[in-house]
Parts: sequence; C-alpha cells; structure tokens
Amino acid sequence: MKWWEVLFQAKEFCCLCDHPHRNVSWAGVWERICPSCCLRLSPISGPCCPLCGRQMGRVQLCGDCRQHPEGILQCNVAVLRYTFYPKQLIRLLKYRGRERLAVPLAEMMAERFYETGIRVNGVTYVPLHPEKWKERGFNQSERLAHQVAQQLHRPLVSTLDKIFPTPPQSQSSRRERIAALQGSFQVKNAYRIKLTDSWLVVDDVYTTGTTLLECARMLKEAGAKQVFSLTFAR
Ligand SMILES: [Zn+2]
Ligand SMILES: [Zn+2]
Repeated sequence: MKWWEVLFQAKEFCCLCDHPHRNVSWAGVWERICPSCCLRLSPISGPCCPLCGRQMGRVQLCGDCRQHPEGILQCNVAVLRYTFYPKQLIRLLKYRGRERLAVPLAEMMAERFYETGIRVNGVTYVPLHPEKWKERGFNQSERLAHQVAQQLHRPLVSTLDKIFPTPPQSQSSRRERIAALQGSFQVKNAYRIKLTDSWLVVDDVYTTGTTLLECARMLKEAGAKQVFSLTFAR
C-alpha cells in the first residue's frame, strides 16, 4: 500500500459485494461500487411515471397509478429498476442481517432525491408490525430512513405505528391488499393533528404503491401538507 493510500484511508472493497475494489474514503457512493455490481444495476432514467417514478417509454401514468386516488402521495422517487440484483440486495439487507448495506443504498437514495429539487421538512419511514420487528430484529425502512435523513440534513421522526400485520402480498389480489392495509397504520399519539409541512416517507421498494399510499393518507389526515416517498427500487 502506498503512503498516500494509508493517509487517505484507501478502501479496498466494493460497498455492495465486498469484492476487491480500490477507492478513497471520500469517494461518492457510485465510485465505491465495483464495475461488475454497476453493470447489474439499472438506474431509472428517461421518461417515468410522474407519480411513482417507474421507468416508462414516455411520461404517462402507469397502470398502478391510474388506479390510485389523486392528491394523497405527491410522488415517489426511486433510484433503480426493481431487477434481479436490487431484489437480491434488499433481501440481503432485510433477511440476512447485512445491515451495513443500508449505508450505500441510502446514500444512492438521498443523492437521487436531492437531484429532484424537492425539499421536505422531515423524514419518516414505513413502520413494521411489532411481531415482525421482533422476528427480524430491525426495520430496514427505518435504517434506510436514518441514513437518508442524515444525508439530507433533515430530522428523522418516527410518526407511524403498524397496528395490524399485513397478509403476504402474493396471496391476495390488489383489492384485498388495499382492504387489508386500510387502518393498519396509525399516526403516533404525539403527532395526531399536529403534523404540518412536507414529509418524506422512506421504504425499500415501491411495488404496487398501496403501502406508501396508505402511510401518506394517514400523515395527511394528521395535517401534513405534502407527502413524498423515496424508495431504493421501483
Ligand atoms: Zn461489487
Ligand atoms: Zn406510476
């Protein structure tokens, strides 16, 4: 190792896959990712659905958003298309205890959100039901939100509780999922009818949008002016 590498704490590994990849400690997140990981990530670019951020051939509402009520969630911002590798990364973070993945993932998210020019007053996250939390030991959305809030220099506030568990998504239709989610989130007592300003809700992935939409609905009912969401993938 060269003297300047010692001095500037050269990092030896890719921040996603831990394979050898030389970079310096102050390098931005994309420079800390090795070329082979970069090849497996598809950043969302070009025309997107204006509400959920899904990459589309042209700017138009996607099929999911056409079925959503308007004016609840301002819009979702996502970093990557939900392809095989982002799916794998989220799985590692969520179920395999690779909690430190939250740092680079959230850095990509904060960077992407900052670029949109949208500014919020506070950051919050999709809560886990206490039973799920006990099972998993942590909430991946909270970990991501914690890092995002730091990067955006905004306060992280735990505003919501999950009061009913959600049935597995694969086993229910869209209508059933919406029905099951209704009333399953609650704004914490301390914040009821006290929320103002604009909020950012963080989650790992935007699939159909029903979860984030329900969170946004609760925050708006409690007084939030605008609610945006930010996810790693869409
Ligand atoms: Zn890598
Ligand atoms: Zn959409």
